[in-house]
Amino acid sequence: MFDVLIIGLGCAGYTAAIYTARYKLKTYLIGAEEGGMGNTAAEVGNWPGNIEIKGPDLMENFKKHALSFGDLVTYKISWVKDITPIPSQGFRLTLNSGETVEGKTIIFATGSVKRKLGVPGEKEFSGKGVTYCATCDAFFYKGKDVAVIGGGDSAVEGAAIAAQVARTVYLIHRRKEFRSEPYWIDKVKSRPNIKFVLERNMLEVIGDQKVKAVKLDKPYKGSTMLSLDGVFIEIGSDPAVDLPKKLGCTLDPIGFVKVDEAQQTSVPSVFAAGDLTSASNHFAQFTTAAGEAAVAANSVFNYLQTAKL
Ligand code: NAP
Repeated sequence: MFDVLIIGLGCAGYTAAIYTARYKLKTYLIGAEEGGMGNTAAEVGNWPGNIEIKGPDLMENFKKHALSFGDLVTYKISWVKDITPIPSQGFRLTLNSGETVEGKTIIFATGSVKRKLGVPGEKEFSGKGVTYCATCDAFFYKGKDVAVIGGGDSAVEGAAIAAQVARTVYLIHRRKEFRSEPYWIDKVKSRPNIKFVLERNMLEVIGDQKVKAVKLDKPYKGSTMLSLDGVFIEIGSDPAVDLPKKLGCTLDPIGFVKVDEAQQTSVPSVFAAGDLTSASNHFAQFTTAAGEAAVAANSVFNYLQTAKL
């Protein structure tokens, strides 16, 4: 039986494993996708110590660090299909393959999943011009016309990155103001090939084999139709709480896993860190995820010292 099962291979998961390994806890680190949301950051300029680093490079550094502790960290890439309590002992994970793994404590670091807009054509053209990561997919639209939907960091950063390769980027946002960092707002304002389509919503994605246009709720330059080749929907993310819910972890009023100052959930010996939690004022950053993960790992260590499992 492992001392701790850490679920999630993003910033929080890797950081938690670095800490639990240094506490000499037998750690099982598992997740479906290496790097998590961190891999979608084209340019990270707020990880202290690196003035600028690409998200995938930062995540690779995290992974290497987490796997530098020899036998203390067992690493597995897989979906976790199910999680069940083993009374007075801990928890059992069932993986997609049917394999099971047992551990005394849990740290959920499952992050978040990108939100869908739910408009006609979105599902039909998903992967055929509609995607949910501008910074990952913009590269495929060299010299083309694309739209980014949203007004947060993901959308505004995505538009700035897409504008480096695309011919035109329409930044479609339902309000006049962006909620993104001023750093990214300055960047998009300085790019002549970014067109601001503000106070407008995208109603439909139109195409045949692939995306050809989008329909807006109000005309832009005299038409509600915008001809383009790709649409990046960047309207935020929802916390990935399916597994914590299975264990009965309480959620906060907006659906995040409720944790206390020790990153402990409402279920004893179950902790959570990163974008899925109610901590850090819901401010989803590398720095906050890493900080929460360090606290969660320390709490696991303290718990195991006293729990007599
Ligand atoms: P977000 O901050 O929640 O922003 C979502 C945006 O999508 C908002 O502008 C929102 O509009 C818009 N939106 C939501 N639902 C919509 C709908 N149904 N129709 C049209 N527009 C809709 O999400 P995010 O940008 O993905 O950022 C999530 C978290 O990750 C944040 O904490 C962010 O700071 C962090 N992040 C940070 C960086 C960075 O530091 N460089 C990069 C990426 C993400 P309203 O403004 O009207 O609500």
